[in-house]
Amino acid sequence: TTLDRGSRTYVAGHRGLVGGAILRHLQRLGFTDLVTRTSSELDLRDPVAVEQFFAEQRPATVVVAAAKVGGILANSTYPADFLSDNLRIQVNVMDAAARHGATKLLFLGSSCIYPKFAAQPIREDSLLTGPLEPTNDAYAIAKIAGVLQVQALRRQYGLHYISAMPTNLYGPGDNFHPTGSHVLPGLIRRFDEAARSGAPSVTVWGTGTPRREFLHVDDLARACVHLLEHYDEPEPINIGVGEDLSIREIAELVAEVIGFEGVLEFDTTKPDGTPRKLLDVSRIKALGWEPQIGLREGLTDTYRWYREQLAAGA
Ligand code: GDP
Repeated sequence: TTLDRGSRTYVAGHRGLVGGAILRHLQRLGFTDLVTRTSSELDLRDPVAVEQFFAEQRPATVVVAAAKVGGILANSTYPADFLSDNLRIQVNVMDAAARHGATKLLFLGSSCIYPKFAAQPIREDSLLTGPLEPTNDAYAIAKIAGVLQVQALRRQYGLHYISAMPTNLYGPGDNFHPTGSHVLPGLIRRFDEAARSGAPSVTVWGTGTPRREFLHVDDLARACVHLLEHYDEPEPINIGVGEDLSIREIAELVAEVIGFEGVLEFDTTKPDGTPRKLLDVSRIKALGWEPQIGLREGLTDTYRWYREQLAAGA
């Protein structure tokens, strides 16, 4: 069933990497009644404020892309915040959506919900079959609770709510914080600084051997709308590309895109995190979606965006 382009659609978290890309995609598709709130306008951790917002706006469709997110260091340094903020946000938003008549909802999780040593590529049914990666277990437990909430709302109220688990994402709008970011924006920032200052080397965290898969957010945004229109099952569904690279290979690719010609140094005092998390994407591909943006092309586009932000003094 195609979504009605005129029905009210709320994108929670539209200032973030994911929510921003979904909002742009919905605008491109001609959605005319898009509702957004910044976190200063509406603190999603506040149940009273969220209740009031939903009572007033009554969106028909809700995309839950609001979350407290961060890279491996932020997650392992602030586990209490990652657990508490994410639980609050998702409980408030999904409960209020259900109470105020939202007929469709997409909850976005993350591939870190799967067990640390899940068989690769990771299938959706490996959820809750083994222990989690400790560097982001607080975030993962919160997201797992969100998946259960979607399933419970379906079972108890017959709602057509769904959840999707994207792989590692990147693209314009990402957070390039020097220590709090994920690997790609972190490396883009450091390689760019080194290329411009003429530094002879760049430090990459960990051993360089973990493997990661990366999806451009514009591809994710198309996947999200595709799922809202073609997927209606209780199980979460993976969104990814089905291929991964080692952190070393990723660092080499970023260096090439940016034009850094020095050497890579590996700081093994920093955590590696989970050894591999390649998603099995056969279910979403069977529904007729696949990624269109290759990693080199996507990195070039992201790097261009990053330089524009720097030039604009952002
Ligand atoms: P993860 O996928 O949840 O582990 O999160 P990250 O994107 O933060 O890290 C992925 C991998 O990249 C880990 O093995 C990190 O140690 C490694 N890595 C290498 N350099 C960096 C960097 O500059 N920033 C981050 N966040 N990770 C890095």
